Amino acid sequence: MSLMTGKKGLIMGVANDHSLGWGIAKTLASHGASLAFTYQGDTLKRRVEPLAQSVGSSLVLPCDVGEEEQVEEVFKNLKKEWGTLDFVVHAIAFSDREELKGKYIDTSRRNFLTSLDISCYSFTSVCRHSAPLMNAGGSFLTLTYYGAEKVMPHYNVMGVAKAALEASVRYLAADLGVHNLRVNALSAGPVKTLAASGIGDFRYILKWNQYNAPLHRNITLDDVGRSALYLLSELSSGVTGEVLHVDNGYHVVGMKSIDAPDI
Ligand code: NAD
Repeated sequence: MSLMTGKKGLIMGVANDHSLGWGIAKTLASHGASLAFTYQGDTLKRRVEPLAQSVGSSLVLPCDVGEEEQVEEVFKNLKKEWGTLDFVVHAIAFSDREELKGKYIDTSRRNFLTSLDISCYSFTSVCRHSAPLMNAGGSFLTLTYYGAEKVMPHYNVMGVAKAALEASVRYLAADLGVHNLRVNALSAGPVKTLAASGIGDFRYILKWNQYNAPLHRNITLDDVGRSALYLLSELSSGVTGEVLHVDNGYHVVGMKSIDAPDI
């Protein structure tokens, strides 16, 4: 029997087969999990449906997390279809790409509020609406980045949103622990995805990580999927409120590697 056999969970935030959410979905499905997916808007529906089918899922639901009723509706539908849930993956972030270059100090009030709403508050909303469906031992997972802890060029308001998201993980873990539900974040190294392509100089950032991370490479979707499997399965039954770095060790490095080539 596989690790996730009999476990049912929702993956939110797949845009295409480069998405971190998709890396997680593939790994979970290959270990026996039953999956449902959400998508944002009809264009992405056409991308997500065939991916869902390829891992045996036909439960594909619309959800713009900026709309509270849509979040509520998703979990009403899942209750009808499945009754209960074992895990939820939140792989969602948004900021105006015009403000993912240049300086943080120039962030507009409008984009600050939108970025924090979609990239941080939505996880709290998702946890609140799904917690009543979760089986004991259930696990929530969100995706974050090292720009929450240290200043990264161009990451700007997303760094602030991810810092708030990581703090939310700790507060949600404290709130939901009494129900034997766990809440964790996976801090992924840079990966070329649709969302990441909006960040200024992203190719440079990828090279920098490759040359300076202790493992001297960039992470893959499989790296992300395997660590998510750990956080979503009983293998991590005593772990909650944690931010796990899956970045080839980049976060432990204090200065540029002496032998790193110029970029
Ligand atoms: P992606 O573009 O593949 O996925 C982002 C997803 O967010 C998309 O599916 C998009 O539809 C969804 N989304 C945005 N606004 C939404 C809304 N209002 N309602 C519902 N969904 C919405 O990119 P990704 O890199 O796989 O991003 C997934 C998560 O991983 C994000 O939280 C991102 O910050 C995080 N992350 C990415 C990297 C990276 O380098 N790619 C590194 C660390 C963390």
